[in-house]
Amino acid sequence: MSSLSATVKLHNGVEIPWVGLGVYKVEEGQQIEDTIASALKIGYRSIDTAAFYQNEEGVGRAIRNSNLNREDIFVTTKVWNTDQGYENTLKAFDKSLKKLGLDYVDLYLIHWPVPGKYKETWKAIEEIYEKGKARAIGVSNFQIHHLEDLLADVNIKPMVNQVEFHPQIFQKDLLDFCKQQNIQMEAWSPLARGQYLDDPTLLEIGKKYNKTAAQVILRWDYQHGVISIPKSTKPHRQDENADIFDFSLTDEEMEKINGLHQNKRTGKHPDEMDYGL
Ligand code: NDP
Repeated sequence: MSSLSATVKLHNGVEIPWVGLGVYKVEEGQQIEDTIASALKIGYRSIDTAAFYQNEEGVGRAIRNSNLNREDIFVTTKVWNTDQGYENTLKAFDKSLKKLGLDYVDLYLIHWPVPGKYKETWKAIEEIYEKGKARAIGVSNFQIHHLEDLLADVNIKPMVNQVEFHPQIFQKDLLDFCKQQNIQMEAWSPLARGQYLDDPTLLEIGKKYNKTAAQVILRWDYQHGVISIPKSTKPHRQDENADIFDFSLTDEEMEKINGLHQNKRTGKHPDEMDYGL
């Protein structure tokens, strides 16, 4: 495991890179094109977008403008809350595919567990998978109770659960549950949007390896078996965030970082989200 092309196998055998590029809040137009162009040049092979980010068209353009083969890039997108339900999800998926200008996506996710809707949404997503239009399917922001509820009814188990995950919100029980169920965890806002990159524990550990706090966090994710998708529009930070495969945290250091947990989120708790219902 020594590069951005290092992958993990999902339960259906599809491989996904351990580190990808998140593109939330990257503007449609020149910014998204430049951001993805530099990331691909550095070696990123996974891009995480969503209908909600309103930059799927730019993601598609950037992929076409690169000299890479479509099958060498792993593209994730997500169905937004107001598009959930069986029929709406099928429509939303087609819209995303059209905007991306692709024939298929690599991973399609339910963005948030909209109460009373996500099971119907999942049925549509299973159908999309069975038609070969998404190579893998999964959920996002699902807590254990959502997963238990969904798993009771599925034909196809989600392959991924993408949740807020960084040292201040170390969701250990959820991680253990996903591991038991063979559902791959993926960390969103892995850097907590840069909010505590001056943390003394992270800096101290980083000093030993000549790594930054961001690199220490992303390495901690990797050693926990969690995929991360840090976002940066800046090439030097994209480079930094990718450079985590040449050092290893000790068990003691992992424990110290686990100890930074404060149950503190940068985003909404899935059970407190305003779903507009
Ligand atoms: P991140 O934790 O990835 O942090 C991004 C912020 O940190 C940006 O402001 C970036 O600024 C800055 N940054 C990036 N790298 C560094 C670095 N090495 N040193 C210092 N600052 C840095 O936050 P996101 O919320 O963007 O999460 C990542 C991705 O996760 C999203 O882009 C999206 O794809 C996904 N996501 C999914 C959600 C879901 O509900 N499923 C919710 C939220 C995010 P700059 O760009 O200027 O470098």
